[in-house]
Amino acid sequence: MTTHSLLLLPGDGIGPEIMASAVEVIGWFNKRAGKELFTTESDLVGGSCYDAHGVSITDETMQKALAADAVLFGAVGGEKWDNVGYEHRPEAGLLRLRKDLELFANLRPAICYPALAEASSLKKELVEGLDILILRELTGGVYFGEPKEIRDLGNGQKRGIDTQVYDTFEIERITRVAFDLARTRRNKVTSSEKRNVMKTGVLWREVVEQVHKADYPDVELEHMLADNCGMQLVRRPKQFDVIVCDNLFGDMLSDVAAMLTGSLGMLPSASLGAPDPVTGRRKALYEPVHGSAPDIAGTGRANPIAMIASVGMALRYSFGMIEEADLLEAAISKALDTGVRTGDIAPEGAETVGTEEMTRAILDALDSLDS
Ligand code: NAD
Repeated sequence: MTTHSLLLLPGDGIGPEIMASAVEVIGWFNKRAGKELFTTESDLVGGSCYDAHGVSITDETMQKALAADAVLFGAVGGEKWDNVGYEHRPEAGLLRLRKDLELFANLRPAICYPALAEASSLKKELVEGLDILILRELTGGVYFGEPKEIRDLGNGQKRGIDTQVYDTFEIERITRVAFDLARTRRNKVTSSEKRNVMKTGVLWREVVEQVHKADYPDVELEHMLADNCGMQLVRRPKQFDVIVCDNLFGDMLSDVAAMLTGSLGMLPSASLGAPDPVTGRRKALYEPVHGSAPDIAGTGRANPIAMIASVGMALRYSFGMIEEADLLEAAISKALDTGVRTGDIAPEGAETVGTEEMTRAILDALDSLDS
């Protein structure tokens, strides 16, 4: 059995608290394997790194991230660093990781555990058992296109300009990720753009069709305008399997999908780069969707599920450990079935548990499902 190296970057606020839960889960899988299946090394990022080194991530840590098989990231940020210069703010560390590792594909699953179906803002029957995946292009599009400026027109008016730009290769590589992922799921891809009003939308659809025809004819493909896709996500979310879209639409649609499942504390994510030409392994970073939650940091009340489910995504997408990933998801579901709830997912007035108790419940569920 191969050994996998994980770089742990807990960060700030609740980051270290939830990373401790991830470490326990990794330890559980090591114990189960009877060897060090995963080796871990921990380092600083964000505000805590700024305090120690005056930057939000050091060059040495970047080297470790480039060398690791996968990076597990907690969360960064907090009031303490609000007045730090723009290039050294805590988020800059995360942005550098995404940029230097060339993580162009952002995966955000929206899974509704049966025990939490009541907590969704939609009707229970619409979301119960929901399992969809939003795939967002992360390094191109309107957030990065040039020109990007506010121009003074000299007549008392200004003009704000953002440029939406996509090249064929950028659309092609994210499309391939979408079809590959669909093949491991329910084999359906919905490609979402605005071809009716945007040239990038026309090219997007054209490239998706070409890739589909050439290499993935076995996967069901549908095209949906992004505005309609937003509507369908709240109308009938279970019709989707994998939704693939550009950076801007992905940003919005993934937030819409996120709220179908209840709390931010439940949502993991993965960001993947191109496969290594020799090993085939993609550069990868796994992190919860939420931030450093300064309002509850240090109280032991953070929900560790988004972080633990991020470990599950690493098992699935970096290490091909599908059985283990399924086991971990089943354990999260089973723990929730027993009624344990952190504050963010508890109905009003209900009894709540802290980070440690929730982690314990998931480890117990792993034990009982594995016996
Ligand atoms: P947040 O996600 O940190 O918190 C929003 C709300 O959700 C808070 O009430 C918080 O207590 C709650 N919450 C979040 N995660 C939770 C969990 N695991 N368990 C229980 N409750 C949870 O967003 P925010 O308050 O807007 O930002 C706080 C800081 O985090 C800011 O400095 C922001 O810049 C940073 N941030 C970092 C990331 C990241 O590291 N990727 C992402 C978003 C925000």
